[in-house]
Amino acid sequence: MSAPSNAIRNLGPAVNEPIRSYAPGEPERAALKARLRAMEKERPDIPLVIGGKEVRTGIAAQATAPHKHRHVTATWHRARPRDVAAAVRAATAARKEWASWRFEDRAAVLLRAADLLATSWRDTINAATMLGQSKTAFQAEIDAACELIDFWRFNVQFATELYEEQPISAPGTMNMVDYRGLEGFVYAITPFNFTSIAGNLPTAPALMGCTVVWKPSNTAILSGWHIMQLLREAGLPDGVINFVPGDAAAITGQLLDHRDLGGIHFTGSTAVFNSMWETVGRNIGAYRSYPRIVGETGGKDFIVAHQSADPVTLAAAIVRGSFEFQGQKCSAASRIYVPRSLWNEVRDRVVAMMKSIRMGDVADFRNFMGAVIDRKAFDRISDYLADAKKRAKIVCGGGADAKTGWFIEPTLVETKDPGYRLMCEEIFGPVVTAYAYPDAKWKETLRTVDATSPYALTGAVFARDRKAVAEAQTALRNAAGNFYVNDKPTGAVVGQQPFGGARSSGTNDKAGSKLNLVRWTSARTVKETYNAARDYRYPFMDAE
Ligand code: NAD
Repeated sequence: MSAPSNAIRNLGPAVNEPIRSYAPGEPERAALKARLRAMEKERPDIPLVIGGKEVRTGIAAQATAPHKHRHVTATWHRARPRDVAAAVRAATAARKEWASWRFEDRAAVLLRAADLLATSWRDTINAATMLGQSKTAFQAEIDAACELIDFWRFNVQFATELYEEQPISAPGTMNMVDYRGLEGFVYAITPFNFTSIAGNLPTAPALMGCTVVWKPSNTAILSGWHIMQLLREAGLPDGVINFVPGDAAAITGQLLDHRDLGGIHFTGSTAVFNSMWETVGRNIGAYRSYPRIVGETGGKDFIVAHQSADPVTLAAAIVRGSFEFQGQKCSAASRIYVPRSLWNEVRDRVVAMMKSIRMGDVADFRNFMGAVIDRKAFDRISDYLADAKKRAKIVCGGGADAKTGWFIEPTLVETKDPGYRLMCEEIFGPVVTAYAYPDAKWKETLRTVDATSPYALTGAVFARDRKAVAEAQTALRNAAGNFYVNDKPTGAVVGQQPFGGARSSGTNDKAGSKLNLVRWTSARTVKETYNAARDYRYPFMDAE
């Protein structure tokens, strides 16, 4: 229930959360290490949260640290069909009041969550992301702390701007667009690779007045659980977001069959998203409304260099863009096109950097890389490495070792065939494949970049020649939803580079932008007339 007030509050413009460096000597370094050590001894028994109540089903599973198999980080409970049904009931029950709250009251929950995350919760969410998803301190900080804080603060600003978009009122009338939250419930399904996305997908629809059933990723359950607790501490009312981990296909099947499905907010692989869209299509006559379907999916992100490119910055971009967080960013560079005149120098610089990369337990801050997320990822990437050994040339790396954790060496592959499968398919690991093209074939190469993969998420051009930059921007206009000039294709910042891709990379609704928030509203137009007509007849009907 919102307190009565006639104030139109100014919530102020959002600003990006400053990134902490965790460099030696900085106080935040010791605090994060201490939280990490403490968390290593915790083993939470993670329940479902339905209508504010914790539910432990007894069908439990264990989560382990990707970089240390023997370290069990948590036990978590799987939802049964009756829990999924209860979550829908809880969301439906909470909707009536939540949707009627003043926007500022809903916003205050997220603004408070952002402030808690920026302060007392920062180390906990970062440590959970390091331990559970094998991110380094810096990768956790830019994701779990800064990006999620930014999502929460900027979404409030974007929602305010949206609500301010109102039609004109002609003399004698007053018009309004009422941006209602969607009827029914929104189903949020989140991936393992970004804690910020896990926090954003359920909360963005909630901010707009929707209520949500959230299925977190099984392989990011620890950070997911801490986010849920943080939101409760921030004052999120019971039932607005219901936390339902478990069997993804079963939960999804049950929810997509529900007549009150109002929307899907998904980030993950293209195949899973396609399967959900197919189910919705099959069920379309059975829903109360047309469900909104928002999905950000896979990528095969490129860096294309012109012969005028600076080899030094290009090489650094390849290393950071391809190997940070073990290449498990949807935006990670994974196919590289370099002119032959530059290739030897770029290759040697990349290899020199790769040889200095340390990989291991992320609690050791000297490491640049941790492990890949799980056995499935380890096996998939290992298969690609085996293929590269047979059909291409491994320039550096190529090793995989699962003894203590799921470790894959950063790997540079060179191919003579720009259509080779490692240039086309999403690998989602620390493997980048390069094709050295004849310098004279710049324009043909741009066409190849555009046509090679079904995805269109991120891409970058490196060139000092301004004309080449323009040519690449034109030829690759539809090849990436986020395009970079002389920069790596990763690291989008909320409010600065709205993120999302087209083609098989998703619906491109740009997480953390007004475009995304629009999808969680169903506009109602209201016209009021001050002095309505008293007669049905019009003047033209009068006698001459
Ligand atoms: P995933 O598709 O395996 O899982 C995503 C979510 O879907 C998880 O919650 C998972 O449990 C659930 N899921 C898995 N199988 C399912 C099924 N059969 N039915 C219903 N739900 C199912 O993806 P992931 O491994 O967690 O994340 C990596 C993928 O996400 C990559 O393809 C990456 O490119 C993509 N991604 C895209 C973006 C973007 O903004 N475009 C951002 C991050 C990740």
